[in-house]
Amino acid sequence: MPELPEVETVVRDLRPQLSGRRVELVQLTRDSLIQGRLIRYPTARQFVQRLRGRTITSVTRRGKYIVMPLQSPAPGHGATPGYDAESPNGAGAQRLIVHLGMTGHLRLWEPEEMPVKHTHVRVLLDSGLELRYDDQRQFGRLLLGTEAEIIAARAFPPRLGPEPIHGDLTEAEFAKLIHARRRPVKSALLDQSFLAGVGNIYADEACFRAGIRPSRWTHRLTLRERRALYEAIQDVLENSIAARGSSVIDYVDGFGLRGTNQEKLLVYGRSGEPCLTCGTPLQGTRLAGRGTVYCRKCQR
Ligand SMILES: [Zn+2]
Repeated sequence: MPELPEVETVVRDLRPQLSGRRVELVQLTRDSLIQGRLIRYPTARQFVQRLRGRTITSVTRRGKYIVMPLQSPAPGHGATPGYDAESPNGAGAQRLIVHLGMTGHLRLWEPEEMPVKHTHVRVLLDSGLELRYDDQRQFGRLLLGTEAEIIAARAFPPRLGPEPIHGDLTEAEFAKLIHARRRPVKSALLDQSFLAGVGNIYADEACFRAGIRPSRWTHRLTLRERRALYEAIQDVLENSIAARGSSVIDYVDGFGLRGTNQEKLLVYGRSGEPCLTCGTPLQGTRLAGRGTVYCRKCQR
């Protein structure tokens, strides 16, 4: 599943191509019309109406979500009037939000290119390129509305924790937050209301780098361990962004290319293989409902 580094890579790839582009045409396939499946808010028909004619002002990320603020269409451009007259960045502005789920891809294509299998949404832009969303397993989500609308519709996690990188969260704040959790470290790291963007890959990688077993209780971590975990989370996420993400299932970037960070993973997906530090076979277990890999010797 794409986590923070993968989503960040897609966002950076798409930003220059989408910022300032107007939506000319929106086309949904039948699957995406099944209400509540891919398009979680509003209805599929409203989704198309609201998106058409609007300008994507930028492409940003919040946790594992791609967030695109939208500007109202110019009067007489054919989209439904009266939705907003607000600034594109205000709380009342319409935003297109995409969560890639497990197998979702948001990419730009030439309109004449044949859509890949499982293409659900096609958005023709005034640049002549087409933004397409494809998703084989359909665990992804698309939302379009103001922040208040989306929260009221319970279509978005109401509370996302702080961003773990880019200076959003200081070491002292992290140490205090995690100390107050009282749960296994792994389950705290996966909880998006605690920290936004970390998933199964980077939770295991961060625990290994910090020398902490994923099953340890958060409130029992020493200050030194909490600091080590903070550093480790930042390192694994930033290194992965630099390597354009981990292509562990079928993740590809905004150009359809695989990342290279999967070659640098120390524990994730390596259960039974020797620890790269001490040679002990890595231990696979289940924690917080997820496959978890750690080294019995290096992680305490
Ligand atoms: Zn080891």
